[in-house]
Amino acid sequence: MTVFTSHSPVTGEPVGEHPVHGPEEIGAAVDRAHAAARRWAACGWAGRRARLRTWKRSLARRMDEFAELISAETGKPVHDARAEVLLTVVHLDWAARNARRVLRRRRVPSGLLALHQRALLDRRPLGVVGVIGPWNYPLYTPMGSIGYALAAGNAVVFKPSELTAGVGELLSASFAQAVPDHPTLLQAVTGHGPAGEALARSGVDMVAFTGAPGTARKVAAVCAERLTPLLAECGGKDAVLVDASADLDAAADAIVWGAMANAGQTCAGVERVYAVASVHADLCERIVHRARALRPGADPEACYGPLTLPGQLATVERHTKEALAGGAHAAHGGPESIRPPYAHPIVLADVPEDSPAMREETFGPTVAVNAVRDLDEGVAHANAGSYALGAAVFTGSRRTGLALAARLNSGAVSVNSVLGFAAIPALPFGGSADSGHGRIHGPDGLRAFTAPQSVTIRRFRPPVDLTSFATSRRSAARTINLGRRLHT
Ligand code: NAD
Repeated sequence: MTVFTSHSPVTGEPVGEHPVHGPEEIGAAVDRAHAAARRWAACGWAGRRARLRTWKRSLARRMDEFAELISAETGKPVHDARAEVLLTVVHLDWAARNARRVLRRRRVPSGLLALHQRALLDRRPLGVVGVIGPWNYPLYTPMGSIGYALAAGNAVVFKPSELTAGVGELLSASFAQAVPDHPTLLQAVTGHGPAGEALARSGVDMVAFTGAPGTARKVAAVCAERLTPLLAECGGKDAVLVDASADLDAAADAIVWGAMANAGQTCAGVERVYAVASVHADLCERIVHRARALRPGADPEACYGPLTLPGQLATVERHTKEALAGGAHAAHGGPESIRPPYAHPIVLADVPEDSPAMREETFGPTVAVNAVRDLDEGVAHANAGSYALGAAVFTGSRRTGLALAARLNSGAVSVNSVLGFAAIPALPFGGSADSGHGRIHGPDGLRAFTAPQSVTIRRFRPPVDLTSFATSRRSAARTINLGRRLHT
């Protein structure tokens, strides 16, 4: 079998070799998963919950092992990778503990017209979910689909990013070790784009994709062939609004972390800031002060690592150069901050709104800080563009924060913090437009991996049965007229 190698973004050294799975092997994995899904369904809520919590405990125990491999394949510092494992564990625990409460069969009102029926709503697993993952959070992000899909009663075939195939393999192996009576419930298949395409075409009952919007479009076209449902978690160009009443130190601290942590390679990371003009200069100064103190590197004390995808350095450089050519001001750093494999922090101010730095996902440790007349102008800019994933608002007034949140198009808004939702498993996460569609996490993230089934049970013969030819036209007409009067 052909193999490919994953490399350290820091040294370029090989980290591991992985098979290039073709359509046949992927089809066979999906067939095994269909059988595994039937056995998993037979486990019942309590059986699934117990097994998923056993797996959760083993992930927590093996945190260092996972963190070291995540760090080796992505280049991020090990302590960041440990935080990623912790977030993953917290979400898996929530999904396991809440699946029954959210998804169990429930009675719903049957209404006057159908008083003789008992109405029940069931949520059934779809069967096999194909999960296609990215490399930037190679555990936490795909587990937003995998953990919730398993808790909802499905089997999963996971195609990790080719950059982080080792993490995907370790994840599926850890499940088989922790839950040995369901060894094929979570399988990893590896390869590049064609392996993802083969998985989408393999007869899975749903595809959960995380990655770039351009790739999501290709996956959607493949899913269209069989009308396979698709959940798409794509990129972002998240904006932060800063009101004159905001605590500027707290805002600057959160903005720098949101923009630069993980070398800016966060789908819901901070890329744009709109501060009201009266505090813009002050905020810029505080942001620069903090950005200046950051040091990328490979040692345990480094603030963030290299760009995982070497080609992304060119994007960061292009966005920076085009912004400066368009009249932006380099408040800190500039094209010279790109020193492969690292990008040092870049803070730009007064960036033209039509510049790629304000429109396209930069995915690097950069932030653009623009002044706005007022918060209305800030909202208009934040909502412009093709992405709608996350956003944040800094203000001294909770009421203003909530009012602004209601006007933002994004799928999540944090008031006086950034990425506030990430550690709250009960909150759904996802976006719209180029940021994708559907939700992971929370009750919606469990429902996403199920199909509703409506069940009715006739309790008694109704006085006038509108679903029988034996009912006379006269009494049917009387009932219909009565219904009409009730609704006019
Ligand atoms: P990518 O689109 O290049 O790849 C994602 C996955 O798709 C990989 O596993 C890849 O092998 C696979 N793939 C590539 N071509 C394919 C095809 N034709 N058919 C099927 N699968 C195919 O994305 P990436 O570079 O791995 O990840 C970075 C992107 O992911 C960024 O845009 C980032 O914002 C986004 N992201 C979004 C979220 C979110 O939850 N919204 C989370 C993390 C990352």
